[in-house]
Amino acid sequence: MELSTFADLALRSELVDVLSGLGYEEPTPIQREAIPPLLEGRDLIGQAATGTGKTAAFALPLLNRLAEGDRGKTPSALVLAPTRELAVQVAEAVTRYGATIGARVLAVYGGQPITPQLKALQKGVDIVVGTPGRVVDHLNRGSLKLTDLKVVVLDEADEMFDMGFADEIEAILAALPLERQTVLFSATMPPKIARMARKHQKNAVQIQVEREKAVAGEAPKVTQTGHLVMRHDKPAALARILDMHQPPSAIVFCRTREEVDELSEGLKARGYRAEPLHGGMSQEQRDRVMNRLRNQTADLLIATDVAARGLDVDHLTHVVNYNVPPAPESYVHRIGRVGRAGREGVAITLAEPRERRMLEAIERLTGTKIALSPVPTRADLLASRLEVTRTALVDVLDSGQFEGVQAMVDTLVAAHGADKVALAAAALAHRAAAPADEADIPEVSARPPRPVRDDAPRTYAPKTYATAGEPRSRGGAHQRTGPPERKPAREGWAKLYVGAGRAANVRPQDLVGAIAGESHLTGKQIGSIEITERFSLVEVPEGDIDEVIKALRSSVIKGRKAIIRRDRDA
Ligand code: AMP
Repeated sequence: MELSTFADLALRSELVDVLSGLGYEEPTPIQREAIPPLLEGRDLIGQAATGTGKTAAFALPLLNRLAEGDRGKTPSALVLAPTRELAVQVAEAVTRYGATIGARVLAVYGGQPITPQLKALQKGVDIVVGTPGRVVDHLNRGSLKLTDLKVVVLDEADEMFDMGFADEIEAILAALPLERQTVLFSATMPPKIARMARKHQKNAVQIQVEREKAVAGEAPKVTQTGHLVMRHDKPAALARILDMHQPPSAIVFCRTREEVDELSEGLKARGYRAEPLHGGMSQEQRDRVMNRLRNQTADLLIATDVAARGLDVDHLTHVVNYNVPPAPESYVHRIGRVGRAGREGVAITLAEPRERRMLEAIERLTGTKIALSPVPTRADLLASRLEVTRTALVDVLDSGQFEGVQAMVDTLVAAHGADKVALAAAALAHRAAAPADEADIPEVSARPPRPVRDDAPRTYAPKTYATAGEPRSRGGAHQRTGPPERKPAREGWAKLYVGAGRAANVRPQDLVGAIAGESHLTGKQIGSIEITERFSLVEVPEGDIDEVIKALRSSVIKGRKAIIRRDRDA
């Protein structure tokens, strides 16, 4: 049976009510797959990135258990998260989902005074969400008692490992009762995570949202682009994108009913003929909306996936994903609504930087790249409107209707000359074609520098790279022609060593071209470049260096294969 509603998942009615109050219309694929086994108490290992709805996938079963009376003096569940931001975000989500059952949720993380956390723990907490470092602190102090713990969740396990929390995680798991449910979510599944899962889980259910094989021919011919924006900039970014594209007929997909209502109101206020469509509307209201779209008295449909299912509108030209869809397959379904019958279609996706992994999963499924570009600026928009202005002026010229302005223009021409007056009139018309004077949307980097651990480094000092390995004596002469001193990379950046330099005619643009061409980085995301006689050093964001190394190793620079590695001197 297809478990298509939250009620089908056998969640308690209080929780189902909360979800419908939040405007969630149906479970996401990860929720559909993970919730039933988690409710049965099974261990689970799930490969899912941010944006898939994984938080609710593990939180709802925890809360369900709590609502069934599984509530003692000490916490029954512990969620470990790599950063304080994620810990806070998860704690907020769990609090929201658990509002009707009165769940007591506490976030514990470093960098925050410990006393309020101690007080809260003393009063009694059902679910603790914490970063591994701070959880270990509490365990050592005896302030966190996990003797009655029923469920532990490791969220973003790969990130926690990458941040050097492996020892803390082991210590925490060792302190938990053996009889417990162990849930692990990770965007990637490197062997070390699989090993840990084998060690600490029993007969775990495995789920993976991203399916590897693409269905041949399923992806239609659609131009696919994406924009990285912070969540709070999304409404403005959407408006700017729509202003730029002026789609004749578009559907904007949202996650929740609230999002649908807010966006359609906002876009109507901007002059768009936008109509909302979601599961909370009556059949009659929905039919009315669909008719407006079909007879083209509406140009924009703002909808949830559920409401748009089965919707068949031939003339749709654009699909806008206001969020990255919760599963790569739903992206394919959504964009399948345009580009039909050989027509050109456009798919635009807004993604938060954290959701980049979901974009990559979609790219793997569809076998096409989603080109990321900044949200158009006001200047871009004005440039794109030039044609509108030109056509408007030509229309007036063709119509020959200049009544009321002849005498004024004669006076102006006498004073300034015809050219200047024409320029002024065109500038005026162009300004009118431009949108309100709005600020530009800040550009965000594809992957912000990896967050640092929120606790003081203790035994986990960052690795220093030995200078051994490849001989440093690449020849004194070459060394002397290099920069006088190899500066370490800036915070959040890493240096890439490319074994080709001036002697091979390598120029900065060759390096930028190779990196931007082979990896997902754009030229703007590449830092400083130093070129010496024999080698070059390029700063790239720390989080991206492994991908860049891999990409460059399988390509050539100036027609040659060069040694590519992390710079050991930096
Ligand atoms: P996550 O992957 O857990 O970070 O969730 C991504 C976003 O999806 C969050 O903003 C959630 O509020 C939202 N969300 C989670 N489940 C659903 C659902 N079933 N329907 C709509 N939105 C959801």
